[in-house]
Amino acid sequence: MSDYVKSLMAEVKAKNPSEPEFHQAVHEVAESLVLVLEKHPEYRAAKILERIIEPERVIMFRVPWTNDQGDVQVNRGFRIEMNSSIGPYKGGLRFHPSVNLGILKFLAFEQVFKNSLTTLPMGGGKGGSDFDPKGKSDAEVMRFCQAFMTELQRHIGPNTDVPAGDIGVGGREIGFLFGQYKKIRNEFTGVLTGKGINWGGSLIRPEATGYGAVYFAAEMLATKNQTLEGKRCLVSGSGNVAQYTTEKIIQLGGKVVTLSDSAGYIYDEEGMDLEKLQFVMNLKNVRRGRIKEYAEKYPSAVYTKLDPSDKNNPLWNHKADCAFPSATQNEINEKDAQNLLNNGVYVVSEGANMPTTIDGVNLFLDKKILYGPGKAANAGGVSVSGLEMAQNSMRYSWTREEVDNRLHMIMKSIHKTCVDTAEKYGTPGNYVNGANIGGFVKVADAMMDLGVV
Ligand code: NDP
Repeated sequence: MSDYVKSLMAEVKAKNPSEPEFHQAVHEVAESLVLVLEKHPEYRAAKILERIIEPERVIMFRVPWTNDQGDVQVNRGFRIEMNSSIGPYKGGLRFHPSVNLGILKFLAFEQVFKNSLTTLPMGGGKGGSDFDPKGKSDAEVMRFCQAFMTELQRHIGPNTDVPAGDIGVGGREIGFLFGQYKKIRNEFTGVLTGKGINWGGSLIRPEATGYGAVYFAAEMLATKNQTLEGKRCLVSGSGNVAQYTTEKIIQLGGKVVTLSDSAGYIYDEEGMDLEKLQFVMNLKNVRRGRIKEYAEKYPSAVYTKLDPSDKNNPLWNHKADCAFPSATQNEINEKDAQNLLNNGVYVVSEGANMPTTIDGVNLFLDKKILYGPGKAANAGGVSVSGLEMAQNSMRYSWTREEVDNRLHMIMKSIHKTCVDTAEKYGTPGNYVNGANIGGFVKVADAMMDLGVV
């Protein structure tokens, strides 16, 4: 670790105690940025990185609501408005019991670089609540979303801050949130993305993150003159990102053999087809059941319950070519990364945000596999959110094909930025440096132009 990173990290830890995920995200980026800061002393002098680390604004609020029994419940709501130098704050809302300030700050920090890479004019933000939608009725989810938006609405707007979905926030939740915003503000604007297609949404938005992560993997493979055809793929999660990652892999001729949820994972030696995927979509999006039921329905699959005391995740210990972590942060530790390498995996495209620990990332970089970090590989979701904003501003909708083509072009462009930047800074093939530096430079230059604000 360089002296600069050491002293920066000491300060970050002292100022932001008990936020290990935020420390991890800053550390990873700072290691890459040493290469730029050496070449650009003006960024150091203007304290650009020190300013990017400090959110422009943090909003924390009480969310009181009543459950179906009439009991009062209290949750905590957050919105981190991290950086608006290249556009309005943009980033998802996460509803999960693990949500806290540090997790949202790590996500908002990552979002700044990711959004910059998309080529679209979007700043970075993130928000959410420790509310757990699991096991709640639709009416409870609606009352929670209405209470959450009753406060959030005063801080957001189509030119200020445009939230979207993330873990626990899908089409149902965006609907309830948008309905409440519209009622309170009496305006129909593109204040949220991931909206339903009949009320301002964009085609391909639900598919975008998963499709994008697969397009990114295909681009990485193309550098070795290879395709996804016939490749065995491990996918984790079974939510929005995992489902559409699986769909695109199948369409491109790959074979998906795993999916998971927080309770366990299934391994299907035969691989999934579109019919099995449809079963998963219905199970997760409509019936809101557990992945275990997949193995009850399909005899070719084996279900393994996850043991939280295990030091590694057995999902990552199967023979494969590619891995698409699509569940949550830190789901691949050093041992998991080693297992992936031992099993022949040489392509990792991260659908989830920061799914690999720093030790795991270093192992992938040492072995020089095709490793696409989340802020590049999963940027397809926010890219199509940006396209949804553009369509809302024009009061016009593009066709499915048009949006998909634009998504594909954006993922190619992000890939090219990563490759070219990594090369320019003397670390060819290192997509981590490519993404961190590529995302940083645009934001840093904008901050230099905008003065000390
Ligand atoms: P969903 O809520 O649709 O699905 C999340 C999936 O991950 C579920 O299968 C869930 O299982 C599992 N999961 C969540 N938390 C944990 C945990 N702590 N341990 C194990 N499994 C867990 O979320 P998304 O698919 O939207 O998001 C998945 C990842 O992709 C996140 O990291 C998110 O930040 C990232 N991402 C999402 C984007 C989007 O457009 N939606 C854009 C860019 C990144 P269970 O149901 O049991 O909780």
